[in-house]
Amino acid sequence: MEPVPAPTDRSPVDRRLVDGQGRAIRYLRVSVTDRCDLRCRYCMAEEMTFLPRSELLALEEIALIAERFVARGVTKIRLTGGEPLVRRDALDLVRRLGRSVGHGLNELTLTTNGTRLADHAQALADAGVRRINVSLDSRDPALFRHITRHGDVAQVLNGIAAARDAGLRVKINMVALKGLNDSEIPAMLDWAACEGMDLTLIETMPLGMINEDRADRFVPLTAVLDDLRARFDLAPDSHDSGGPARYWRVGGSATRLGLISPLTGNFCATCNRVRLTTDGKLYSCLGHDDHVDLRAAIREGGLAAVDAAIDAALGAKPARHDFDVSQGASPAVARHMSVTGG
Ligand code: SAM
Ligand code: SF4
Repeated sequence: MEPVPAPTDRSPVDRRLVDGQGRAIRYLRVSVTDRCDLRCRYCMAEEMTFLPRSELLALEEIALIAERFVARGVTKIRLTGGEPLVRRDALDLVRRLGRSVGHGLNELTLTTNGTRLADHAQALADAGVRRINVSLDSRDPALFRHITRHGDVAQVLNGIAAARDAGLRVKINMVALKGLNDSEIPAMLDWAACEGMDLTLIETMPLGMINEDRADRFVPLTAVLDDLRARFDLAPDSHDSGGPARYWRVGGSATRLGLISPLTGNFCATCNRVRLTTDGKLYSCLGHDDHVDLRAAIREGGLAAVDAAIDAALGAKPARHDFDVSQGASPAVARHMSVTGG
């Protein structure tokens, strides 16, 4: 790629990010691509239409927008997707944004399916990433292959090992799926605790059409927690990531169990995040369609127009999502999680 230009002005802009409900926005998630090398059944349909490459933001545009958010008070950026590491210039973006760590940005992190982590873990660490989330819905090779439609769990486990060798702290993300991996949850927590990793369980959310009815796979995490409390010594943990998870500490280990339960425990009152898609749309809520077009803003009006569009998005940020998994096959929102950035 071209040599990375000097960082843009990092001095704070006197326009802090507060939404219409008075919530301070400190966290930006960036979907660097909507593409993926897996097809997890709860996330994507088997046949997906992805955004044409001509519509995507250039790396430089993503970086400029992200840096603007940092100048306006965002302290944490997560790169996600789709699978962020399938975008060819993803590591260049990590390196570019890594230069803001310690200059307004406290944390640069990413969520990955881990398939390419073995090759990239060291580069991520070198760029200033300290922690990553790796999605792993099963450690059983056949079940992993079934859930992802064609994934190889060994690749992901190798990726996790490489990440840890590179000094990255790894948190495992696991979507609870009835009749698929729900019986494996205690074993996953046990493994995470033995390995010194955190585990976050996630309720399946009605985002985008898939080939099945999510209600058939929905597992309320309230029930999972009751079961885990009977098996593990779990103490409520006051850790607050500013995010949707509620935490428990697993006795006798450094492991934290997180539960993200948008269906059974709404967390919107403390929402501190917004999401940028790979084609430049800024969504202020995962569960709503309202958005502003930062691609048009940056191309037509530069950073002043980006600021104005961000302000408009924050002013209109909804108070809460209205997810209801019992809506059957029709999802609450047509966009897949991979478009908005999970
Ligand atoms: N490809 C990367 C990965 O899988 O980690 C990053 C993107 S993925 C969309 C981010 C997270 O969203 C993953 O942990 C995934 O399991 C989760 N996810 C995807 N679709 C979901 C859905 N409909 N409901 C709940 N979680 C979902
Ligand atoms: Fe890809 Fe992640 Fe969605 Fe799985 S959850 S299909 S790995 S974007």
